[in-house]
Amino acid sequence: MTRVQKGSCLCGHVAFTVEGAPNGVTNCHCRMCQKASGAPYVTWVELPRAAVQWSGAEPAWRTSSRAAMRGFCPACGTPVAFVYNEGRDIDLPSVLFDDPEAYPPRDETWTESRRSWTVLNGQLPHHRRGRDDGEL
Ligand SMILES: [Zn+2]
Ligand SMILES: [Zn+2]
Repeated sequence: MTRVQKGSCLCGHVAFTVEGAPNGVTNCHCRMCQKASGAPYVTWVELPRAAVQWSGAEPAWRTSSRAAMRGFCPACGTPVAFVYNEGRDIDLPSVLFDDPEAYPPRDETWTESRRSWTVLNGQLPHHRRGRDDGEL
């Protein structure tokens, strides 16, 4: 059985459908995610690019570092996606799915820059920076 999940930005202009299982789900506490989202961390669902279909408008993309781009809704500004230029995955924020409980986090990354008032989930693995493979 293939699981299909739908989601969208705040205004609904950008919408997506995901089919298949994620490669990971991480609470990323890095400074770039903090700046780009305006929140202390982003829970990213890491999906193979082929698993994601844009069912509404596609995001607008901006280069956010030498290695990566971030997508956002051109109508309402919601951050909706992250990709490494050379990466095989596309990351979508877990809370944008219509079922916001569909993808709970599996680990915590870049905890070295977590805010002092953010409580880490003691049930999950913690990584001071990204994982060993360099993703996130
Ligand atoms: Zn929008
Ligand atoms: Zn991050």
